[in-house]
Amino acid sequence: MGHQKTIRRPVSCRGIGLHTGKDVELALLPAPAGSGITFERADLPGSPSIPARPDSVVDVHYATTLARDGVQVKTIEHLMAALSGLGVDNIRVCLTGPEVPILDGSAAPFVALLKTAGIRRYLLPKLPIQVRRPATVRAGDRWIAIEPAPRLVVEYTMTFGHPKFPAQRVALTVNRDTFVREVAPCRTFGFLRDVQYLWSQGLALGGSLENAVVIGEEGVLNEALRFEDEMIRHKVLDLIGDLYLLGRPLQGKVTAHGAGHALHSQLVREILRQQRVAEATEGPEPAWEPRLLTPEPVSPAAL
Ligand SMILES: [Zn+2]
Repeated sequence: MGHQKTIRRPVSCRGIGLHTGKDVELALLPAPAGSGITFERADLPGSPSIPARPDSVVDVHYATTLARDGVQVKTIEHLMAALSGLGVDNIRVCLTGPEVPILDGSAAPFVALLKTAGIRRYLLPKLPIQVRRPATVRAGDRWIAIEPAPRLVVEYTMTFGHPKFPAQRVALTVNRDTFVREVAPCRTFGFLRDVQYLWSQGLALGGSLENAVVIGEEGVLNEALRFEDEMIRHKVLDLIGDLYLLGRPLQGKVTAHGAGHALHSQLVREILRQQRVAEATEGPEPAWEPRLLTPEPVSPAAL
């Protein structure tokens, strides 16, 4: 699984939030090994920070929102997916507003930003979390099942109740390559029939054809889809982002049907529960283990 990583140089970008419509500057800054991912609200006195952890999740309605002491950061999932996909463990995410910019609605701009920053490896090893035993979380006819597997495998299905898009299914082994090529470019999506409702809830105020796939009665209103099954691939993107609140890479098979942020978050709690049970019976995992650094030599700059 390799070493913990951060970025080499600070980078930034600017854009509007999907739900708030607010213009926000986002800066990504290197962070020490073992410090994890933290969001900071640079627009508020004292720049309060919120750790990207499962216990920081306060809202899972159409996006994942974190909060600490009443300070919120919304729509973290696409950036979290990019961090997961590129294996970045430690980073400071500084925002000048309450929501991560939506950019083009996918994780591709965040992947490009992280590549511009460059990746720096630490000596501290990365410790994956393993799915210990099969489990299922459900809400009505929507569910997610997990089972042990040597790597992260995701299968996602969804029915949309739309004549042009009745149902979609995708299955893939998630690694850096498959994430960057097949998942990261997939944009968030919404149905025109839901727009009035979303606006009435104060949601999707920044949404447009520039940052979301919009599906009307006749089909997609955007010029073209990036994949024929772009919507279900975006569900995988959201899942990867939400799972990364575990702070460590997950090894296991995840099968989801009709899920969303709420069930993703429930799944994270189930994985943590399994982890606690395993630690209570088998003892804690070693915080470090001796290993040879070859054949992957660490450059002096990373030491
Ligand atoms: Zn999304």
